[in-house]
Amino acid sequence: MEMRYANRIDRIPPYLFAEIDREIERKKNEGVDIINLSVGDPDLPTPRNIVERLQEAARDPANHRYPSYAGMPAFRKTIADWYRRRFNVSLDPEEEVIALIGSKEGIAHIPLAFINSGDIALVPDPAYPVYKIGTILAGGEPIAMPLMEENGFKPDLEKIDREIAKKAKILFINYPNNPTTATAELEFFREVVDFSIDNEIIVCHDAPYTEMTFNGYKAGSFLEVRNAKDIGIEFHSLSKTYNMTGWRIGFAVGNSEVLAGLGKVKENVDSGVFQAIQYAAIEALEGPQDTVRKNMKIFRERRDLMVDGLRDLGWNVEKPRATFYLWFRIPEPYKSSIKFSSDLLNKTGIVMTPGVGFGSYGEGYVRCALTQKKERLEEALDRIKRFNLR
Ligand SMILES: *Cc1c(COP(=O)(O)O)cnc(C)c1O
Repeated sequence: MEMRYANRIDRIPPYLFAEIDREIERKKNEGVDIINLSVGDPDLPTPRNIVERLQEAARDPANHRYPSYAGMPAFRKTIADWYRRRFNVSLDPEEEVIALIGSKEGIAHIPLAFINSGDIALVPDPAYPVYKIGTILAGGEPIAMPLMEENGFKPDLEKIDREIAKKAKILFINYPNNPTTATAELEFFREVVDFSIDNEIIVCHDAPYTEMTFNGYKAGSFLEVRNAKDIGIEFHSLSKTYNMTGWRIGFAVGNSEVLAGLGKVKENVDSGVFQAIQYAAIEALEGPQDTVRKNMKIFRERRDLMVDGLRDLGWNVEKPRATFYLWFRIPEPYKSSIKFSSDLLNKTGIVMTPGVGFGSYGEGYVRCALTQKKERLEEALDRIKRFNLR
């Protein structure tokens, strides 16, 4: 029989990195030593206290049962306490906190709770792809909000068509931002809150990088803004801060009705996060934070090494205040980010992500993840110099 995918699958745009993935495979088979700077997955291990807490909790049969879908009360209380400590935001752990199987899971599911067929979600471009794809899977229409360099990679809310703004149901934002590394001040969040109250839009702020900042910069929470909780939620993740990408745990906090909608979907789709992992996450948020500081020092050294090295080659690269990425214009005379990434790979064996893979407004840029050891970054710089790539 002929297999026919549902329309929602056909609506998912082609995977732009597929061609690069094939090239990587081909190069590997040729024996090329690939330096992969394309993955947003920390190469450092999960801190030991967290692993040990998992081991201990995994041994306890009480944790072998189905968990509560919203997250254990102790985990939700830890999250509320962390928000109070970190952002001076108060949350009711019962109603305003929900555990997620990684924040991606929550981001992908939220449109199912609020988007009817044809409804609009405003999504940044370039962006983490799940805002757009989650909207498509729910039958909605993602409308791009361009993130332009001259606007600090923040959407210009005044440029959004009034009809579209009135019709939009969800607005996604993400600061500190992946892929642009841009940060946002509370003033911007305030504009978003005003805009969203005026237009009755739910705000979903994706904030997995608030703890991954440099040189004393402290990222704020969207929920610090007055009335933000009336219209929005914030997604958080332990993946990046604690090197726990494989563990699949995150959380969402904020407006209780929005979270109840998300919870309704989740209740019927998944059965919560393994309790032993929730105990490990409690340890992550409440335990000593010295590994986070140590790791950020490592990322800062890598950032400085790479930015200084690329600048010496005449590339126009800024030092980001947050995240473990660099985002910069592809060097002259390149126009296409795919052509640049492909030449870089073919000539030097280095992989960086073409900006257009994050959306059409990412064209002309490339993302470099600092997820390799210093020695490998030095080797990468050396190769770029040697092959005189421009
Ligand atoms: C990594 C990342 C996520 C997903 O994190 P998980 O909690 O591992 O699902 C979400 N949003 C952005 C912007 C990310 O970079």
